Amino acid sequence: MIPETVQTSGSSTMTEKPRNSGGDTPQALPNRGFCEELYDLMASAYGPQNWWPGDSVFEIMVGAILTQNTQWTNVEKAIQRLKEMEILEPRKIASVSLETVKTAIKDAGCYNQKAARLKNITAFLLEKNLDFFRLRKADPVLLRDELLQINGIGKETADSILLYALGHPVFVVDAYTKRLFSRLRYRWMATGSYDEIQEFFYHQFAKDTARYNEFHALIVFHSKYYCRSRPGCAHCILKEICHHHHS
Ligand code: SF4
Repeated sequence: MIPETVQTSGSSTMTEKPRNSGGDTPQALPNRGFCEELYDLMASAYGPQNWWPGDSVFEIMVGAILTQNTQWTNVEKAIQRLKEMEILEPRKIASVSLETVKTAIKDAGCYNQKAARLKNITAFLLEKNLDFFRLRKADPVLLRDELLQINGIGKETADSILLYALGHPVFVVDAYTKRLFSRLRYRWMATGSYDEIQEFFYHQFAKDTARYNEFHALIVFHSKYYCRSRPGCAHCILKEICHHHHS
C-alpha cells in the first residue's frame, strides 16, 4: 500500500525517446519530462491515493515495518490487534514482552523478526525522547543513516518512515517501481540497485514530499491492478508509451 522532488518539466513528451541512450542504463540521463507526464496521467486516471493510512506517526512507522513481505490487509489486522491490546504506543511496546508483541502482530507474518524490529525502532524513538517534531525537522540524510543502523531496518523501510511518517522528501523504491519502470522504458531498473534507482528519481523531480508521496502510491496502485507480474496491458492507460507493450 503505501509511499518526494526536483523537477524540470523539460521539453520532451512521453512519446519521445529518452535522451542519450534510450534509457537502458543508469548512466543515461533521464528524460525529465517523462516521469512528470507519467505522474499526471496516473493522477488524473486514479485520483488521490491518500497515503499512508494511520492515526499517528508511530502507527505509520509500525505499518512500514509490518508491511515487509506481506499484503496490506494482514498489516491492518495486526495493527487492529495492537490497538485492541492497547499497546500501539512506543512506551507500551517498550514495556511489554517480546512474546506479547509477537502475539499481537502474528497476522502480519514473520512475526519473530518484525516484533524484534518494532522493539528496536521503539528503543530508537525513546532515545530521541519521542520528539517527533524534532525528527521531522532533522536532516533527512543524517536521520536516514541513523535509521539504517537499527537492526532490521532496510532502505525501503527507512525511506517509507522518512517520507510517510515524518514528511521528509525521500523517494521510496520498491519492487513495483522496478518492475513498472523497467517495462515502460528503463530496462536497467530490473537489475539496478536501490541507490541507482532512487538517484534516477531525484533527477526527475524537485524535492517535494507531497509529490513523492503521491507518485509512489500511484505506482503501487497501477502495479497492483494493471502492471502485475503478468501484465494486463489491454486495459492499461500507459500502453501507448510502454516499450514492453510494443516489443
Ligand atoms: S502496457 Fe502492460 S507492461 Fe506496460 S505499463 Fe501497462 S500493464 Fe505494464
